[in-house]
Amino acid sequence: KSEIMAGKRGLIMGLANDKSIAWGIARNLADAGAQLAFSYQGEALKKRVDPLAAQLGSDIVLPCDVSDGASIDSLFDDLKTRWDTLDFVVHAIGFSDKSELRGRYVDTSRDNFMMTMDISVYSFTAVMQRAEKMMTNGGAALTMTYYGAERIMPHYNVMGVAKAALESSVRYLAEDLGKDGIRVNAISAGPIKTLAASGIGDFRYIMKWNEYNSPLRRNVTIDDVGKSALYLLSDLGSGVTGETHHVDAGYHVVGMKAVDAPDM
Ligand code: NAD
Repeated sequence: KSEIMAGKRGLIMGLANDKSIAWGIARNLADAGAQLAFSYQGEALKKRVDPLAAQLGSDIVLPCDVSDGASIDSLFDDLKTRWDTLDFVVHAIGFSDKSELRGRYVDTSRDNFMMTMDISVYSFTAVMQRAEKMMTNGGAALTMTYYGAERIMPHYNVMGVAKAALESSVRYLAEDLGKDGIRVNAISAGPIKTLAASGIGDFRYIMKWNEYNSPLRRNVTIDDVGKSALYLLSDLGSGVTGETHHVDAGYHVVGMKAVDAPDM
């Protein structure tokens, strides 16, 4: 067992249940010796997050709705009463009205466009505004994105546009915060069956397609993502910032597969 995160303290945002990508990341960080705090959205999730946090030795479980600046402020105010500094942040949050994660992108409504961008893009910047002040010894931040930012994926629609903006914001944040030794990266994960993913149309088909067409011929797990997150958030990633790192069984490098793929 590695102790590469010993003495490091980090905030995990976006844990909903044990299928969440945030859970795969948190587990790997805790196994490597990190101390963790968790934020959750809404009282209903608290009862799921409390026992998961406890399993990783954490009793810091705080509410935060990222669509509300005051709620982000109170999260960091609460966190400051427990810790004087912060070493890393994981932002594993995204949201869009699921009625617009099917059908045509062109039909996206203004209200859902704004909400999707607010929760899935701006929130990361808003969090980093607060986190920066606690990262007095430098630090690392990680957000989660998807290949639908770069290429058309069925039903991903406005979320693809939001992820493109999120990836761009990772680069701008990397530049602004690099002076203070804070690294900012994204992981572009292949499709994984989670609560958020269940809102996307034909998700089972998308998973099958990735399984058949990726070089590794399988889908990735939250543990695959967690291991790469550990690299990016630890000293192993010390020279890496502004990066979108694909953890997708190689799917993003494929133009067209040879005929060994089984019939779809
Ligand atoms: P998930 O449902 O487990 O996690 C999504 C989280 O977002 C939940 O914890 C939810 O509470 C939180 N959230 C939504 N709105 C919020 C708000 N207003 N304030 C605070 N929290 C809010 O699903 P997941 O798949 O683990 O998603 C985590 C991240 O990974 C998302 O950004 C998602 O887009 C991204 N991602 C997922 C996949 C996939 O296939 N599952 C692939 C690539 C990227």
